[in-house]
Amino acid sequence: MLVCSLGSGSSGNATVVRSAANRTLLIDCGVQYPRLRKNLARIGVHPNDIDAVVISHEHSDHTQAARPLRAVARMPIVASPEFVAEATWLNDVVTDAFDPDHAWTVGDITVTPCRVSHDAAATYGFVVEADGCSLALFTDLGGASDTVRSAVGGADLIVIEANYDGAMLDAGSYPWFLKARIKGRGGHLSNADCGDLLARAFTHDRPRDVWLAHLSANNNAPETAVRTVSGALRAAGLFHATVTALPRYTNGPIWQCVRHQQLTLFG
Ligand SMILES: [Zn+2]
Ligand SMILES: [Zn+2]
Repeated sequence: MLVCSLGSGSSGNATVVRSAANRTLLIDCGVQYPRLRKNLARIGVHPNDIDAVVISHEHSDHTQAARPLRAVARMPIVASPEFVAEATWLNDVVTDAFDPDHAWTVGDITVTPCRVSHDAAATYGFVVEADGCSLALFTDLGGASDTVRSAVGGADLIVIEANYDGAMLDAGSYPWFLKARIKGRGGHLSNADCGDLLARAFTHDRPRDVWLAHLSANNNAPETAVRTVSGALRAAGLFHATVTALPRYTNGPIWQCVRHQQLTLFG
C-alpha cells in the first residue's frame, strides 16, 4: 500500500491510497483541481487511474475538486447518507452513499468508516487496509471517542488532525466565537489533544508513522505540532512512533508498506 497526502489544511485536503495491485482510492478531494492534478502527477497518478473517491464531509476543503474530477474521469464519488441528504448542492457529483456501519471495498482496498464529532452534516474518518497494512485517517475531529482511539491504535500509519496550539489560538486575533467553535467538540483537535489521543490509543510501543494533518496557518507551526505530539508520546513511554507534519500545499512523504499482496484475479 502506498499513501501520499496531496495537501493538508483549511486550503484543501486529499490523500491518495494505492494498493500493490494498482487499485487507487482518493480520500477527500478538497485541494483545488489544478493543484490536485499536478500533485497527483508528481507521484505518477492520473485522474483516470482513480477507482473511487470517498468524501469525509461536505466542507469545501474536502470537496472542492469533486466536480472537475468527475467531469474528467467519471469515477464513483462516495459519501455518507447524511451528506447525500443534507449537502444537496453537491448531490450531482456524488454517485453512491456508503453504509456507515459496514466496510466496503475498492478492488483489494477495504474501507471502514468511523463517525467523528465535527460541525458538518456528519463527518467520518476512515480505516483503510490493503496488502496487510493499515491506515487510520482522521483529518477533522472535534474530539476523540473510544471508536476513534481503537481505530488509531490498530493502524500502521495514522493521519490525524493537530489543528492548533492552545496558547497561539488564545493569543491570536480570531474573534471569541470562532475560537470557541475551533475548541468545541464540533471543531478541531489541538496539538495537545492529538498527543493525548495518540498516547491513550497506542496501548503498546511499536513502530508506526504519524502524520499530523490540517494544521492551522494562523494558530500553529509544524515544528510546534511535532514537538507537542512527540513530547506527549515520549511522556507516555512510547518511543517507536515517528511524527511528521504534513505540508499545506505540496505532497507529503510517500508511505509504502506491503506485508502480503492479495492476488486479484477478477475485477
Ligand atoms: Zn471540516
Ligand atoms: Zn477540513
